[in-house]
Amino acid sequence: MDYTTPDKPLADNPAEMDFCLYDAIVVGSGPAGSACAIFLARAGRKVLLLDKAEYPREKVCGDAISGKSIHVLRELGILPKLEAQAHGVINGLMMVSPDGKEVVVPFPKATGMGCAGYCLRRKQTDEALNEAAKAEKNITFVGPFSVQTLLRDGKNAVIGVKGDGKPAGMDDRGNAQNASSGEYRARVVVGADGSGSVVSRSLGLAGVPPEHAFMAIRGYWRGVGGLSENIELFFIDEVLPGYLWVFPMGDGTANVGLGILNSDIKKRNEHPNKILLNALAKHPILSKRFANAKLEGNIGAWTIPNGSYKKQNSGDGWVLCGDAASLVDPFSGEGVGNALASGKLAAQAIDEALEKQMEEKLNGSGAGSPDEPDTAPPQGGDGDSSQSLDADTWALDASSLKPYSERIEKELRPELEMSYKLQRASRLRFLLNLFIGKAASKPEFRQMLVDMLANDKEKERVADPLFYLKLLLP
Ligand SMILES: Cc1cc2nc3c(=O)[nH]c(=O)nc-3n(C[C@H](O)[C@H](O)[C@H](O)COP(=O)(O)OP(=O)(O)OC[C@H]3O[C@@H](n4cnc5c(N)ncnc54)[C@H](O)[C@@H]3O)c2cc1C
Repeated sequence: MDYTTPDKPLADNPAEMDFCLYDAIVVGSGPAGSACAIFLARAGRKVLLLDKAEYPREKVCGDAISGKSIHVLRELGILPKLEAQAHGVINGLMMVSPDGKEVVVPFPKATGMGCAGYCLRRKQTDEALNEAAKAEKNITFVGPFSVQTLLRDGKNAVIGVKGDGKPAGMDDRGNAQNASSGEYRARVVVGADGSGSVVSRSLGLAGVPPEHAFMAIRGYWRGVGGLSENIELFFIDEVLPGYLWVFPMGDGTANVGLGILNSDIKKRNEHPNKILLNALAKHPILSKRFANAKLEGNIGAWTIPNGSYKKQNSGDGWVLCGDAASLVDPFSGEGVGNALASGKLAAQAIDEALEKQMEEKLNGSGAGSPDEPDTAPPQGGDGDSSQSLDADTWALDASSLKPYSERIEKELRPELEMSYKLQRASRLRFLLNLFIGKAASKPEFRQMLVDMLANDKEKERVADPLFYLKLLLP
Protein backbone atom coordinates (compact mmCIF):
# COMPACT_ATOMS: atom_id res chain seq x y z
CA MET A 1 0.00 0.00 0.00
CA ASP A 2 1.59 3.23 -1.14
CA TYR A 3 0.48 6.11 1.06
CA THR A 4 2.33 8.83 -0.76
CA THR A 5 1.39 8.75 -4.43
CA PRO A 6 -2.33 8.69 -5.14
CA ASP A 7 -2.63 6.96 -8.50
CA LYS A 8 -6.31 7.58 -9.02
CA PRO A 9 -6.81 11.31 -9.46
CA LEU A 10 -10.30 12.58 -8.79
CA ALA A 11 -12.40 15.31 -10.23
CA ASP A 12 -11.00 18.73 -9.27
CA ASN A 13 -14.46 20.05 -8.56
CA PRO A 14 -15.77 18.79 -5.19
CA ALA A 15 -19.35 19.20 -6.42
CA GLU A 16 -18.57 16.68 -9.17
CA MET A 17 -17.32 14.24 -6.56
CA ASP A 18 -20.72 14.29 -4.90
CA PHE A 19 -22.24 12.56 -7.92
CA CYS A 20 -20.18 9.49 -7.30
CA LEU A 21 -20.09 6.57 -4.99
CA TYR A 22 -17.20 6.99 -2.59
CA ASP A 23 -14.81 4.18 -1.77
CA ALA A 24 -15.24 5.05 1.90
CA ILE A 25 -17.27 7.40 4.06
CA VAL A 26 -15.47 8.20 7.31
CA VAL A 27 -17.74 9.54 10.06
CA GLY A 28 -15.73 11.69 12.48
CA SER A 29 -12.55 13.68 11.89
CA GLY A 30 -10.93 13.06 15.29
CA PRO A 31 -7.65 11.08 15.48
CA ALA A 32 -9.21 7.77 14.34
CA GLY A 33 -11.22 9.19 11.44
CA SER A 34 -8.60 11.64 10.18
CA ALA A 35 -5.89 8.96 10.22
CA CYS A 36 -8.12 6.46 8.44
CA ALA A 37 -9.20 8.99 5.80
CA ILE A 38 -5.65 10.21 5.14
CA PHE A 39 -4.14 6.72 4.80
CA LEU A 40 -6.97 5.68 2.48
CA ALA A 41 -6.62 8.83 0.38
CA ARG A 42 -2.89 8.32 0.05
CA ALA A 43 -3.60 4.80 -1.21
CA GLY A 44 -5.64 6.42 -3.97
CA ARG A 45 -9.10 5.83 -2.53
CA LYS A 46 -11.94 8.32 -2.81
CA VAL A 47 -12.98 9.33 0.70
CA LEU A 48 -15.83 11.41 2.09
CA LEU A 49 -14.96 12.66 5.59
CA LEU A 50 -17.86 13.98 7.68
CA ASP A 51 -17.85 15.68 11.08
CA LYS A 52 -20.71 17.23 12.98
CA ALA A 53 -18.43 19.78 14.66
CA GLU A 54 -17.17 23.10 13.35
CA TYR A 55 -13.34 23.00 13.41
CA PRO A 56 -11.36 23.93 15.42
CA ARG A 57 -13.41 22.14 18.06
CA GLU A 58 -12.87 21.28 21.73
CA LYS A 59 -12.46 17.67 22.84
CA VAL A 60 -12.47 16.87 26.54
CA CYS A 61 -9.18 15.02 27.04
CA GLY A 62 -6.06 14.78 29.24
CA ASP A 63 -4.11 16.03 26.17
CA ALA A 64 -1.19 13.62 26.69
CA ILE A 65 0.35 12.31 23.47
CA SER A 66 2.44 9.18 23.90
CA GLY A 67 5.16 7.56 21.80
CA LYS A 68 2.52 5.38 20.14
CA SER A 69 0.66 8.47 18.89
CA ILE A 70 3.87 10.25 17.88
CA HIS A 71 4.79 7.38 15.57
CA VAL A 72 1.56 7.75 13.52
CA LEU A 73 1.48 11.57 13.72
CA ARG A 74 4.95 11.58 12.18
CA GLU A 75 3.78 9.28 9.37
CA LEU A 76 0.86 11.63 8.76
CA GLY A 77 3.35 14.48 8.45
CA ILE A 78 1.83 16.74 11.10
CA LEU A 79 4.37 16.31 13.91
CA PRO A 80 6.39 19.47 13.06
CA LYS A 81 3.18 21.54 13.09
CA LEU A 82 2.23 20.19 16.52
CA GLU A 83 5.72 20.65 17.97
CA ALA A 84 5.78 24.27 16.82
CA GLN A 85 2.95 25.08 19.26
CA ALA A 86 3.39 25.63 23.01
CA HIS A 87 3.30 22.20 24.58
CA GLY A 88 4.26 20.35 27.75
CA VAL A 89 7.15 17.92 27.54
CA ILE A 90 6.77 14.47 29.09
CA ASN A 91 9.74 12.45 30.27
CA GLY A 92 8.42 10.44 33.16
CA LEU A 93 5.53 9.27 35.28
CA MET A 94 5.05 10.22 38.92
CA MET A 95 2.72 8.02 40.96
CA VAL A 96 1.39 8.76 44.42
CA SER A 97 0.06 5.94 46.61
CA PRO A 98 -2.89 6.09 49.05
CA ASP A 99 -0.43 6.27 51.98
CA GLY A 100 1.35 9.26 50.40
CA LYS A 101 4.47 7.65 48.90
CA GLU A 102 5.74 9.15 45.65
CA VAL A 103 7.77 7.50 42.92
CA VAL A 104 9.03 8.86 39.59
CA VAL A 105 9.58 6.38 36.79
CA PRO A 106 11.41 7.78 33.73
CA PHE A 107 9.79 7.03 30.37
CA PRO A 108 11.88 5.79 27.45
CA LYS A 109 12.28 8.47 24.74
CA ALA A 110 9.96 8.21 21.72
CA THR A 111 11.72 7.16 18.51
CA GLY A 112 13.42 10.16 16.88
CA MET A 113 12.35 12.51 19.71
CA GLY A 114 14.21 14.27 22.50
CA CYS A 115 11.40 13.34 24.89
CA ALA A 116 8.95 10.52 25.61
CA GLY A 117 5.82 12.44 24.65
CA TYR A 118 4.06 15.75 25.12
CA CYS A 119 0.84 17.46 26.14
CA LEU A 120 -0.97 19.64 23.64
CA ARG A 121 -4.58 20.81 23.73
CA ARG A 122 -6.75 18.51 21.66
CA LYS A 123 -8.26 21.50 19.95
CA GLN A 124 -4.86 22.07 18.35
CA THR A 125 -3.99 18.41 17.69
CA ASP A 126 -7.35 17.69 16.08
CA GLU A 127 -7.34 20.89 14.04
CA ALA A 128 -3.97 19.86 12.58
CA LEU A 129 -5.38 16.40 11.78
CA ASN A 130 -8.50 17.88 10.18
CA GLU A 131 -6.40 20.37 8.15
CA ALA A 132 -4.12 17.55 6.96
CA ALA A 133 -7.17 15.54 5.88
CA LYS A 134 -8.68 18.50 4.03
CA ALA A 135 -5.39 19.04 2.19
CA GLU A 136 -5.57 15.54 0.68
CA LYS A 137 -6.72 15.59 -2.94
CA ASN A 138 -8.72 12.38 -2.53
CA ILE A 139 -10.69 13.55 0.49
CA THR A 140 -13.90 15.54 0.33
CA PHE A 141 -14.63 17.01 3.74
CA VAL A 142 -18.20 17.97 4.56
CA GLY A 143 -18.87 19.62 7.87
CA PRO A 144 -20.61 20.40 10.05
CA PHE A 145 -22.58 17.33 9.00
CA SER A 146 -24.23 15.19 11.64
CA VAL A 147 -24.84 11.57 10.64
CA GLN A 148 -28.21 10.40 11.95
CA THR A 149 -28.50 6.89 10.55
CA LEU A 150 -27.10 4.36 8.10
CA LEU A 151 -28.38 3.39 4.67
CA ARG A 152 -28.66 -0.36 4.04
CA ASP A 153 -29.07 -2.53 0.99
CA GLY A 154 -31.57 -5.38 0.68
CA LYS A 155 -29.23 -7.72 2.56
CA ASN A 156 -28.82 -5.24 5.40
CA ALA A 157 -25.25 -4.36 4.42
CA VAL A 158 -24.33 -0.74 5.13
CA ILE A 159 -24.14 1.29 1.92
CA GLY A 160 -24.05 4.86 3.17
CA VAL A 161 -25.17 7.45 5.69
CA LYS A 162 -27.99 9.89 6.10
CA GLY A 163 -27.83 13.05 8.17
CA ASP A 164 -28.08 16.79 8.52
CA GLY A 165 -25.64 19.43 7.54
CA LYS A 166 -24.70 22.37 5.43
CA PRO A 167 -25.51 22.12 1.73
CA ALA A 168 -22.70 20.36 -0.07
CA GLY A 169 -23.58 21.19 -3.66
CA MET A 170 -24.98 18.02 -5.13
CA ASP A 171 -25.76 14.75 -3.47
CA ASP A 172 -24.55 11.40 -4.75
CA ARG A 173 -27.56 10.99 -7.01
CA GLY A 174 -26.91 14.31 -8.68
CA ASN A 175 -29.78 16.13 -7.01
CA ALA A 176 -29.28 19.57 -5.57
CA GLN A 177 -28.81 18.94 -1.91
CA ASN A 178 -31.28 20.10 0.66
CA ALA A 179 -29.73 22.47 3.19
CA SER A 180 -30.85 20.41 6.18
CA SER A 181 -30.39 16.80 5.17
CA GLY A 182 -28.27 14.65 2.93
CA GLU A 183 -27.37 11.10 1.97
CA TYR A 184 -24.02 9.77 0.85
CA ARG A 185 -23.06 6.32 -0.35
CA ALA A 186 -19.86 4.34 -0.26
CA ARG A 187 -18.51 0.81 -0.41
CA VAL A 188 -17.71 1.01 3.27
CA VAL A 189 -18.67 3.28 6.17
CA VAL A 190 -16.05 3.87 8.86
CA GLY A 191 -17.54 4.76 12.24
CA ALA A 192 -14.88 6.95 13.87
CA ASP A 193 -17.45 9.05 15.68
CA GLY A 194 -16.20 8.64 19.22
CA SER A 195 -17.62 7.18 22.39
CA GLY A 196 -21.25 8.09 21.67
CA SER A 197 -20.98 6.63 18.16
CA VAL A 198 -24.17 7.04 16.14
CA VAL A 199 -22.80 4.54 13.63
CA SER A 200 -22.44 1.93 16.37
CA ARG A 201 -25.94 2.62 17.68
CA SER A 202 -27.44 2.50 14.19
CA LEU A 203 -25.82 -0.90 13.73
CA GLY A 204 -27.72 -2.05 16.81
CA LEU A 205 -24.53 -2.76 18.80
CA ALA A 206 -24.82 -2.70 22.59
CA GLY A 207 -23.30 0.22 24.54
CA VAL A 208 -20.10 -0.34 26.54
CA PRO A 209 -21.06 -1.78 29.97
CA PRO A 210 -20.44 0.59 32.93
CA GLU A 211 -17.68 -1.61 34.35
CA HIS A 212 -15.74 -1.09 31.09
CA ALA A 213 -16.07 2.67 30.71
CA PHE A 214 -14.57 5.56 32.67
CA MET A 215 -16.50 8.67 33.51
CA ALA A 216 -13.73 11.23 33.03
CA ILE A 217 -13.58 14.96 33.75
CA ARG A 218 -10.90 17.56 33.22
CA GLY A 219 -10.19 21.26 33.68
CA TYR A 220 -7.23 23.61 33.15
CA TRP A 221 -5.67 25.15 36.25
CA ARG A 222 -3.17 28.02 36.12
CA GLY A 223 -0.56 28.49 38.83
CA VAL A 224 -0.16 24.88 40.00
CA GLY A 225 3.05 24.52 42.05
CA GLY A 226 5.76 21.93 41.34
CA LEU A 227 4.96 21.06 37.71
CA SER A 228 7.76 19.18 35.96
CA GLU A 229 8.29 17.03 32.88
CA ASN A 230 6.36 14.21 34.54
CA ILE A 231 2.76 13.28 34.06
CA GLU A 232 1.35 12.60 37.51
CA LEU A 233 -1.14 9.96 38.61
CA PHE A 234 -2.62 10.11 42.11
CA PHE A 235 -4.10 6.85 43.46
CA ILE A 236 -5.32 8.48 46.65
CA ASP A 237 -8.12 7.75 49.12
CA GLU A 238 -10.10 10.81 48.05
CA VAL A 239 -10.63 9.38 44.53
CA LEU A 240 -10.16 5.59 44.79
CA PRO A 241 -11.16 3.35 43.04
CA GLY A 242 -10.58 6.12 40.48
CA TYR A 243 -7.40 8.10 39.78
CA LEU A 244 -6.55 11.76 39.49
CA TRP A 245 -4.05 13.21 37.02
CA VAL A 246 -2.01 16.37 36.70
CA PHE A 247 -0.44 16.89 33.26
CA PRO A 248 1.86 19.87 32.45
CA MET A 249 0.67 21.84 29.40
CA GLY A 250 3.84 23.93 28.96
CA ASP A 251 1.81 27.18 28.80
CA GLY A 252 1.58 27.84 32.54
CA THR A 253 -1.47 25.61 32.93
CA ALA A 254 -1.99 22.01 33.98
CA ASN A 255 -4.63 19.63 32.68
CA VAL A 256 -6.13 18.19 35.85
CA GLY A 257 -8.71 15.43 35.80
CA LEU A 258 -10.32 12.41 37.27
CA GLY A 259 -11.13 9.00 35.79
CA ILE A 260 -13.45 6.58 37.54
CA LEU A 261 -15.37 3.60 36.20
CA ASN A 262 -19.02 4.34 35.45
CA SER A 263 -19.99 1.39 37.66
CA ASP A 264 -18.01 2.89 40.59
CA ILE A 265 -19.31 6.43 40.22
CA LYS A 266 -22.86 5.05 40.31
CA LYS A 267 -22.07 3.34 43.62
CA ARG A 268 -20.35 6.45 45.05
CA ASN A 269 -23.33 8.59 44.15
CA GLU A 270 -21.24 11.77 44.25
CA HIS A 271 -20.71 14.27 41.43
CA PRO A 272 -17.22 13.69 39.92
CA ASN A 273 -16.50 17.46 40.01
CA LYS A 274 -17.06 17.40 43.77
CA ILE A 275 -14.71 14.43 44.19
CA LEU A 276 -11.99 16.19 42.17
CA LEU A 277 -12.33 19.58 43.88
CA ASN A 278 -12.40 17.94 47.29
CA ALA A 279 -9.17 16.03 46.53
CA LEU A 280 -7.42 19.21 45.34
CA ALA A 281 -8.48 21.05 48.48
CA LYS A 282 -7.87 18.33 51.07
CA HIS A 283 -5.08 15.99 49.98
CA PRO A 284 -1.82 17.01 51.75
CA ILE A 285 0.35 17.08 48.58
CA LEU A 286 -2.28 18.50 46.22
CA SER A 287 -3.67 21.14 48.57
CA LYS A 288 -0.20 22.75 48.88
CA ARG A 289 0.40 22.69 45.13
CA PHE A 290 -3.07 24.05 44.31
CA ALA A 291 -3.12 26.71 47.05
CA ASN A 292 -2.69 29.52 44.50
CA ALA A 293 -4.07 27.77 41.43
CA LYS A 294 -7.08 29.05 39.49
CA LEU A 295 -9.45 27.04 37.33
CA GLU A 296 -9.69 28.53 33.81
CA GLY A 297 -13.03 27.89 32.13
CA ASN A 298 -15.23 24.92 32.96
CA ILE A 299 -14.65 21.35 33.99
CA GLY A 300 -15.63 19.17 31.02
CA ALA A 301 -16.89 15.59 31.20
CA TRP A 302 -16.86 12.73 28.69
CA THR A 303 -17.03 8.92 28.61
CA ILE A 304 -13.96 6.77 27.94
CA PRO A 305 -14.85 3.36 26.41
CA ASN A 306 -12.17 0.91 27.50
CA GLY A 307 -10.50 -1.82 25.51
CA SER A 308 -11.26 -4.29 28.31
CA TYR A 309 -14.63 -4.62 26.52
CA LYS A 310 -14.32 -6.52 23.28
CA LYS A 311 -16.69 -4.90 20.83
CA GLN A 312 -17.54 -6.07 17.34
CA ASN A 313 -15.66 -3.74 15.00
CA SER A 314 -16.47 -4.89 11.46
CA GLY A 315 -19.35 -6.28 9.43
CA ASP A 316 -21.05 -6.00 6.05
CA GLY A 317 -20.12 -2.58 4.71
CA TRP A 318 -18.76 -1.13 7.96
CA VAL A 319 -15.88 -0.89 10.42
CA LEU A 320 -15.50 0.96 13.72
CA CYS A 321 -12.28 2.68 14.86
CA GLY A 322 -10.98 4.44 17.97
CA ASP A 323 -13.45 5.18 20.78
CA ALA A 324 -16.36 3.99 18.64
CA ALA A 325 -14.67 0.55 18.76
CA SER A 326 -13.91 0.83 22.52
CA LEU A 327 -10.13 0.73 22.24
CA VAL A 328 -8.91 2.97 25.09
CA ASP A 329 -6.17 1.68 27.40
CA PRO A 330 -8.10 0.57 30.54
CA PHE A 331 -5.25 1.49 32.92
CA SER A 332 -4.02 4.85 31.66
CA GLY A 333 -7.12 6.11 29.83
CA GLU A 334 -4.91 6.77 26.81
CA GLY A 335 -6.98 6.52 23.64
CA VAL A 336 -5.40 8.75 21.01
CA GLY A 337 -2.64 6.20 20.24
CA ASN A 338 -5.08 3.37 19.58
CA ALA A 339 -7.47 5.71 17.73
CA LEU A 340 -4.67 6.61 15.29
CA ALA A 341 -3.43 3.01 15.11
CA SER A 342 -6.90 1.56 14.48
CA GLY A 343 -7.57 4.23 11.83
CA LYS A 344 -4.43 3.15 10.04
CA LEU A 345 -5.24 -0.57 10.37
CA ALA A 346 -8.74 0.08 9.02
CA ALA A 347 -7.34 1.99 6.03
CA GLN A 348 -4.99 -0.89 5.20
CA ALA A 349 -7.71 -3.53 5.48
CA ILE A 350 -10.22 -1.46 3.46
CA ASP A 351 -7.68 -0.77 0.73
CA GLU A 352 -6.93 -4.49 0.45
CA ALA A 353 -10.65 -5.37 0.46
CA LEU A 354 -11.34 -2.82 -2.31
CA GLU A 355 -8.50 -4.26 -4.35
CA LYS A 356 -9.83 -7.79 -3.90
CA GLN A 357 -13.35 -6.69 -4.80
CA MET A 358 -12.08 -5.07 -7.98
CA GLU A 359 -10.19 -8.24 -8.96
CA GLU A 360 -13.29 -10.35 -8.35
CA LYS A 361 -15.36 -7.94 -10.39
CA LEU A 362 -12.90 -8.08 -13.27
CA ASN A 363 -12.85 -11.88 -13.09
CA GLY A 364 -16.63 -11.96 -12.95
CA SER A 365 -16.63 -13.83 -9.61
CA GLY A 366 -17.83 -12.87 -6.12
CA ALA A 367 -21.26 -12.16 -4.74
CA GLY A 368 -23.14 -8.91 -4.92
CA SER A 369 -21.93 -7.65 -8.29
CA PRO A 370 -23.12 -4.09 -8.88
CA ASP A 371 -24.74 -5.30 -12.07
CA GLU A 372 -26.94 -7.69 -10.11
CA PRO A 373 -29.11 -5.70 -7.72
CA ASP A 374 -29.95 -7.57 -4.53
CA THR A 375 -33.59 -7.94 -3.76
CA ALA A 376 -33.48 -9.82 -0.43
CA PRO A 377 -35.79 -8.27 2.19
CA PRO A 378 -34.24 -5.88 4.76
CA GLN A 379 -33.64 -7.33 8.24
CA GLY A 380 -34.04 -5.40 11.48
CA GLY A 381 -31.50 -2.78 12.68
CA ASP A 382 -31.92 0.91 13.02
CA GLY A 383 -30.75 1.75 9.50
CA ASP A 384 -32.78 3.15 6.65
CA SER A 385 -33.42 0.12 4.44
CA SER A 386 -35.84 1.91 2.16
CA GLN A 387 -33.26 1.93 -0.63
CA SER A 388 -32.76 -1.19 -2.65
CA LEU A 389 -29.24 -1.83 -3.88
CA ASP A 390 -28.67 0.47 -6.84
CA ALA A 391 -26.51 -0.52 -9.73
CA ASP A 392 -23.74 1.73 -8.47
CA THR A 393 -23.53 0.46 -4.88
CA TRP A 394 -21.45 -2.46 -3.83
CA ALA A 395 -20.74 -2.83 -0.13
CA LEU A 396 -17.57 -4.58 1.01
CA ASP A 397 -18.70 -7.76 2.72
CA ALA A 398 -17.91 -8.78 6.29
CA SER A 399 -15.43 -11.48 5.28
CA SER A 400 -13.35 -9.01 3.26
CA LEU A 401 -13.21 -6.64 6.27
CA LYS A 402 -12.44 -9.34 8.81
CA PRO A 403 -8.65 -8.85 8.48
CA TYR A 404 -9.18 -5.47 10.20
CA SER A 405 -10.69 -7.15 13.26
CA GLU A 406 -7.95 -9.79 13.23
CA ARG A 407 -5.22 -7.13 13.18
CA ILE A 408 -6.84 -5.29 16.08
CA GLU A 409 -6.70 -8.55 18.03
CA LYS A 410 -3.09 -9.19 17.07
CA GLU A 411 -1.65 -5.70 17.34
CA LEU A 412 -3.71 -3.90 19.99
CA ARG A 413 -5.50 -6.48 22.14
CA PRO A 414 -2.51 -7.98 24.04
CA GLU A 415 -1.53 -4.59 25.51
CA LEU A 416 -5.18 -3.77 26.30
CA GLU A 417 -5.50 -7.05 28.20
CA MET A 418 -2.34 -6.35 30.21
CA SER A 419 -3.58 -2.88 31.05
CA TYR A 420 -6.88 -4.34 32.22
CA LYS A 421 -4.97 -6.54 34.67
CA LEU A 422 -3.10 -3.45 35.89
CA GLN A 423 -6.39 -1.57 36.23
CA ARG A 424 -7.85 -4.30 38.42
CA ALA A 425 -4.69 -4.43 40.56
CA SER A 426 -4.79 -0.64 40.98
CA ARG A 427 -8.23 -0.88 42.61
CA LEU A 428 -6.65 -2.54 45.63
CA ARG A 429 -5.42 -0.01 48.16
CA PHE A 430 -2.95 -2.34 49.90
CA LEU A 431 -1.44 -3.38 46.56
CA LEU A 432 -1.00 0.24 45.48
CA ASN A 433 0.76 1.06 48.74
CA LEU A 434 2.98 -1.98 48.37
CA PHE A 435 3.73 -1.41 44.69
CA ILE A 436 4.45 2.32 44.79
CA GLY A 437 6.19 2.09 48.19
CA LYS A 438 8.50 -0.62 46.93
CA ALA A 439 9.28 1.30 43.74
CA ALA A 440 10.04 4.41 45.81
CA SER A 441 12.53 2.59 48.04
CA LYS A 442 14.14 -0.03 45.77
CA PRO A 443 16.06 1.06 42.63
CA GLU A 444 15.91 -2.46 41.14
CA PHE A 445 12.12 -2.48 41.46
CA ARG A 446 11.97 0.95 39.87
CA GLN A 447 14.03 -0.36 36.96
CA MET A 448 11.55 -3.19 36.57
CA LEU A 449 8.78 -0.59 36.18
CA VAL A 450 10.83 1.31 33.58
CA ASP A 451 11.20 -1.96 31.65
CA MET A 452 7.50 -2.66 32.00
CA LEU A 453 6.61 0.75 30.56
CA ALA A 454 9.05 0.29 27.68
CA ASN A 455 8.33 -3.26 26.77
CA ASP A 456 5.05 -5.12 26.24
CA LYS A 457 6.69 -8.45 27.10
CA GLU A 458 7.76 -7.08 30.47
CA LYS A 459 4.19 -5.93 31.16
CA GLU A 460 3.22 -9.61 31.30
CA ARG A 461 4.94 -9.73 34.68
CA VAL A 462 1.80 -8.24 36.14
CA ALA A 463 0.01 -11.53 35.43
CA ASP A 464 2.75 -13.59 37.07
CA PRO A 465 2.14 -14.65 40.72
CA LEU A 466 5.92 -14.48 41.31
CA PHE A 467 5.74 -10.74 40.66
CA TYR A 468 3.42 -10.34 43.67
CA LEU A 469 5.56 -12.63 45.79
CA LYS A 470 8.58 -10.40 45.04
CA LEU A 471 6.47 -7.41 46.03
CA LEU A 472 5.81 -8.96 49.43
CA LEU A 473 9.46 -9.84 50.09
CA PRO A 474 11.43 -7.19 52.01
C1 LIG B 1 -11.26 13.41 30.32
C2 LIG B 1 -10.52 12.58 29.30
C3 LIG B 1 -9.13 12.51 29.34
C4 LIG B 1 -8.43 11.78 28.37
N1 LIG B 1 -7.06 11.83 28.36
C5 LIG B 1 -6.37 11.26 27.36
C6 LIG B 1 -4.97 11.47 27.24
O1 LIG B 1 -4.36 12.22 28.01
N2 LIG B 1 -4.31 10.86 26.23
C7 LIG B 1 -4.97 10.06 25.33
O2 LIG B 1 -4.31 9.51 24.44
N3 LIG B 1 -6.31 9.88 25.41
C8 LIG B 1 -7.03 10.46 26.38
N4 LIG B 1 -8.40 10.33 26.42
C9 LIG B 1 -9.08 9.49 25.40
C10 LIG B 1 -9.14 10.21 24.06
O3 LIG B 1 -9.70 11.50 24.23
C11 LIG B 1 -9.99 9.40 23.05
O4 LIG B 1 -9.62 8.05 23.13
C12 LIG B 1 -9.78 9.92 21.62
O5 LIG B 1 -10.31 11.22 21.48
C13 LIG B 1 -10.47 8.97 20.62
O6 LIG B 1 -10.38 9.52 19.32
P1 LIG B 1 -11.52 9.20 18.24
O7 LIG B 1 -11.04 9.77 16.97
O8 LIG B 1 -11.88 7.78 18.30
O9 LIG B 1 -12.81 9.99 18.75
P2 LIG B 1 -13.05 11.55 19.02
O10 LIG B 1 -11.77 12.23 19.30
O11 LIG B 1 -14.13 11.62 20.03
O12 LIG B 1 -13.58 12.08 17.62
C14 LIG B 1 -14.86 11.74 17.15
C15 LIG B 1 -15.31 12.76 16.12
O13 LIG B 1 -16.55 12.33 15.58
C16 LIG B 1 -17.43 13.43 15.43
N5 LIG B 1 -18.80 12.93 15.48
C17 LIG B 1 -19.43 12.38 16.54
N6 LIG B 1 -20.69 12.02 16.19
C18 LIG B 1 -20.85 12.36 14.88
C19 LIG B 1 -21.94 12.27 13.97
N7 LIG B 1 -23.12 11.75 14.33
N8 LIG B 1 -21.78 12.72 12.71
C20 LIG B 1 -20.59 13.26 12.33
N9 LIG B 1 -19.52 13.38 13.16
C21 LIG B 1 -19.65 12.93 14.42
C22 LIG B 1 -17.09 14.34 16.61
O14 LIG B 1 -17.46 15.68 16.35
C23 LIG B 1 -15.57 14.14 16.72
O15 LIG B 1 -14.87 15.11 15.99
C24 LIG B 1 -9.13 11.04 27.38
C25 LIG B 1 -10.53 11.08 27.35
C26 LIG B 1 -11.22 11.85 28.29
C27 LIG B 1 -12.73 11.91 28.23
